Amino acid sequence: MKRHLAFGAFLFLCCVLPSHSEEYATLRQKMVEEVIAASGSSRPAPKVMAAMGKVERHRFVPSWLTLFAYRNQPLPIGYGQTISQPIIVALMTDLLQVKEGDSILEIGTGSGYQAAVLAEIAKSVYSIEVVEPLGKQATERLRSLGYDNVKVKLGDGYYGWPEAAPFDGIMVTAAASHVPPPLLKQLKPGGRMVIPLGASFMTQYLMLVEKKADGSVTSRQIEPVRFVPLTGGH
Ligand code: SAH
Repeated sequence: MKRHLAFGAFLFLCCVLPSHSEEYATLRQKMVEEVIAASGSSRPAPKVMAAMGKVERHRFVPSWLTLFAYRNQPLPIGYGQTISQPIIVALMTDLLQVKEGDSILEIGTGSGYQAAVLAEIAKSVYSIEVVEPLGKQATERLRSLGYDNVKVKLGDGYYGWPEAAPFDGIMVTAAASHVPPPLLKQLKPGGRMVIPLGASFMTQYLMLVEKKADGSVTSRQIEPVRFVPLTGGH
């Protein structure tokens, strides 16, 4: 009986799981169209959507979730963490206004998906992850997918990556209670930082922080969001 069930489950998975890269490409294109449609007036720049049309999100989620990889929803990646919803990845990438020659810092590597999207546009991406197994998995995944312009470091992202600073853009993908001063210091004049602010289980807001050419800093609320908290010993 158990064997029959297992065989049945196997057949079911064979039938419903896309088996060829073209099928995933079709699903990915549908995801891109869905994100554009759902973005309304804050439609992301074409280069952002082109990047998301390239990155194989199904390779960044646990194998038992590949079927859901191209839905516009966050998914668990283990260790209580999640890969962000595609529309949020698009929004955050768009807000950063990433250019071809840019050097970008990401805090919270997670699966490595957001880093890969950034790496499709920027020259180099530095990403910090505090959960060791996630950081190691993401490093290996990004390497095997050929993202040579992404460097992953294990540690508390609150302190940034001083050796690689300054950065044209900084993206924090976990919710903090305040803008970490070391990150602000590592942002170039004229640079942008996107960061969710607020406690977990409370309303968090995605903030756009801009450091002007004269070094002055402005920030504005973009929209309410839900992120896992920025942890670490800071
Ligand atoms: N950008 C990721 C998803 C982020 S989920 C992706 O594309 O998949 C938030 C991530 O931030 C988690 O992996 C979590 O472990 C990590 N994180 C939380 N606090 C951190 C800290 N202080 N420093 C670095 N990473 C942190």
